[in-house]
Amino acid sequence: MDIRIGQGYDVHAFGEGDHVMLGGVRVPHARGVVAHSDGDVILHALCDAMLGALALGDIGRHFPSGDPRWKDADSRVLLRHCHALLRERGWVLGNADITVVCEQPKVGPHVAAMQSTVAEDLGVAIGAIGIKATTSERLGFIGRGEGIAAQAVCLLKRA
Ligand code: MG
Repeated sequence: MDIRIGQGYDVHAFGEGDHVMLGGVRVPHARGVVAHSDGDVILHALCDAMLGALALGDIGRHFPSGDPRWKDADSRVLLRHCHALLRERGWVLGNADITVVCEQPKVGPHVAAMQSTVAEDLGVAIGAIGIKATTSERLGFIGRGEGIAAQAVCLLKRA
């Protein structure tokens, strides 16, 4: 097989704070997220998608939440680590597509910056990184503004 696919999903609860990290971009918000790292759901879902494509388990296995090395970690470090794992195994990222689900903050104005940040970390063109957002139509925990979620898919191809 010369291609692999992977998918990932992540959720963080909102907590104290004045911003959320999304796709490596600091997005101002009335709340922060509860997380051991910086709680970037876009990058965590994408890491899990890449690890899944490699059948290497999940982000919790590679970056245990009890490990002080990852306390308040910049999730871009995690993303670059996952990218190194796929390069070492002879793969490159073909493309990734990510959906963020939240009622707030407004994600749209920050999408271009997120695409550019993620593309830079993964060494691909901006056009290889799809990022979009939707709400939960005020339903469920996301709809009540209790947290934020993201899902990601990616395609790897032989280098
Ligand atoms: Mg997470």
